[in-house]
Order: sequence, then structure tokens, then C-alpha cells
Amino acid sequence: MKRLNKIVNVTQPSLPDLDEFIIYLREIWNSKQLTNNGSFHQEFEKQLADFLGVKYISLFANGTLALISALQVLRISGEVITTPYSFVATTHSLWWNGIKPVFVDIDPESKNLDPLKIEAAITPRTTAILPVHVYGNPCAVDEIQKIGDIYGIKVIYDAAHAFGVTLNGDSLLNFGDLSILSFHATKTFNTIEGGAIVCHDENTKKRIDFLKNFGFADEVTVVAPGINAKMNEIQAAYGLLQMNSFRNQVIKRKEIANIYRSLLQDVKGISYHEDIKNVKHNYSYFPIFIDEDEFGISRDELYFKLREKNIYGRRYFYPLISEFPAYRGLASADSEKLPIAERVAKQVICLPIYPELTLQTVETIVNHLKGLSLSF
Ligand SMILES: *Cc1c(COP(=O)(O)O)cnc(C)c1O
Repeated sequence: MKRLNKIVNVTQPSLPDLDEFIIYLREIWNSKQLTNNGSFHQEFEKQLADFLGVKYISLFANGTLALISALQVLRISGEVITTPYSFVATTHSLWWNGIKPVFVDIDPESKNLDPLKIEAAITPRTTAILPVHVYGNPCAVDEIQKIGDIYGIKVIYDAAHAFGVTLNGDSLLNFGDLSILSFHATKTFNTIEGGAIVCHDENTKKRIDFLKNFGFADEVTVVAPGINAKMNEIQAAYGLLQMNSFRNQVIKRKEIANIYRSLLQDVKGISYHEDIKNVKHNYSYFPIFIDEDEFGISRDELYFKLREKNIYGRRYFYPLISEFPAYRGLASADSEKLPIAERVAKQVICLPIYPELTLQTVETIVNHLKGLSLSF
């Protein structure tokens, strides 16, 4: 089989219409307001809250600063329970706050923090749970909230993958005390770099907005040692335009996901996620999980062979965060305590998925996959 003549990456960012963007850029050039809660920032915040179906949202320069700030907003300290199966920024945000991460294993189906294993990890120093809606699939939000309520600890969701996802018709971002979004170029919804915190009351929103602007409550009052994590006007203008195309992009992503599913269903040793009832997905990622014995070759062999064919999947998430030097010395990082996460990290490849990916390319990718398997 021939290799693809151009590299197909796991994702490709969607950009807004350039002519429309230039109109907004002209306005910015004329007003000379570049940042500090300008009119595009205000408009984007307002429209985005409506678009997502949340009460309050605060825009950020990126998702990592939003995560770091969210922990400051709620004065989280001591120990926080989190998942090793995520992007490193989830745990790094704890480290930047001097908080000790406590890793808990994941559920084999959802790949999210296993709610049944959280309680055993709670100590008198635990102040919060930081779960991740991995691939945009909802965490066990009700079970996690119950634990939060019983123990009096906060729940902060890393919802970097969950833009636009709903559960029973309600935004997934409405669960927990706070949710964090990322609008990085590689995410389903991008503002080049960008992020946000979703909260549920006006006072918390105010506190978030102080903290992302050095702690300024007004011209002469600094209420906290804040940071500079503001989104600028150019990003906000770009973001405003991105909302126009998002719904159509999700439809295209869904088509691609369904084609992958139908073409892969008879391949032994490959499993993938099905849509979940009551969930509106965003199809950010299309992870497949390789059972080496049944498929015939290991995940890594498959990963590198696909690269030879110009198919650049990604091993999201491998290695586990708990395996990196900063964290592997922690008692909770012991791989024997994280058997499911260990296994999944060795099995996963996220296949290319983005709105402009042609159905023909999807077929070619699957044909290459089949060509490497035992069953074809
Ligand atoms: C992308 C991502 C982040 C970081 O967001 P940035 O905007 O890149 O800083 C955090 N957590 C998860 C799970 C992510 O995928």
C-alpha cells in the first residue's frame, strides 16, 4: 500500500474566515485597545457563556494559566486527587501551587478518574479533586460530587477536551465548583492560544477576574497576589468568529468518527469508544486501543509503522504523568497502584480527526491499519 503523499497529523486547526477577521483587526487598529478587557473581550465572554450554556466564564491567555489560577481562586492547598492519564499541565498546575498531587487510577471504560478509588486516597490534607473529562467523555460527575460534598472538598474539572459537550442536555461545564477550558490551536475550539474558567456565581467570577489581572480589584486596590493571564483583543476577536463554524465542525467530526467505527468494527484487537447515551459529544479525538495479542503487533510498532506511511497519530496519553521525573517519586505514582492507567497508556493511539480530513484519507488510514493486523 502506498504511503500518503502528505503528512496527516492527529489534528489540524480550523481558522476563521480571513476577510471577516481583517474587519475586526481594522477595528482594533483604529481603537488601539489591544488588551485589558476591551470590547472584543467583553463581547466574546458574553457570547461564549450563552453559546456554551454556562452562567459565568472568564477568558484566559491559555488553559494552563486558567488551571493554575482556578486552584488559587478556591485557595486549594495540601493534597489534591487527580488522574495520571492526562496532559502534563493538569498535574503541573498543582506543582506550581505547591500542592501535592495524589494519583488515583482510572476507569477502564471511560478512561477518567475511577470514582470508586477516590475515597481511599483522601487524607486530612486533601482539599480538592481535579478530574479530567478525557477525550471530552464525561467523568462520573454525580459520584464525584457526592464524595466532594461528604468530605467537604472542592471539585475542579480540567475540561480542556470538553468544549461544547452536554450531559442530559446540560453543559458538562456546569458540574463541579469550577471547570477549565483550553483554546489551544490543537483543541476542538481554538483562539490560537487561550483558555477559560467557568464558574457558577458572580462573586467567584469577580475573584477570578481580579486574579488573572495581578489581583487588581480597582485602580488602587490589589486584593491578592494575582498573575497576568489575560486574553488579548486579537485572540478575543478571532474567538468570536470561531463560534460561527463550531457546530458544523462537530458534525464533520462526527461523520469521521462514525466512518472509523464502521471500518474498524471487524478488526480484531482494536477497540474504540462508542457514543454515550444522553451525551452530546464534540469528537475532539478518536482514540483506538490496541490489544497486542489479538491485533498482532504492539501499539508502538503500529504507531511507528503508521508514521512511515505519513499517518501521524498521537499516543494520548503516554507516558503517564506519574512516570515523569517530577512526580515518579510520589507514593501514589507507583505503577502497581495504577494498573488500568498503565495498561491503557500502552494501548492507545489517537487517530487523525479534524473537520477538513477527507473521507478518502480516513479510508486510507484504516486500510493501512488493517494491512498491519493479523486479521486481514
Ligand atoms: C491542552 C490541555 C491543557 C493545557 O491547555 P493549554 O491551553 O495548552 O495551556 C490542560 N489539560 C489538558 C487535559 C489538555 O489537553
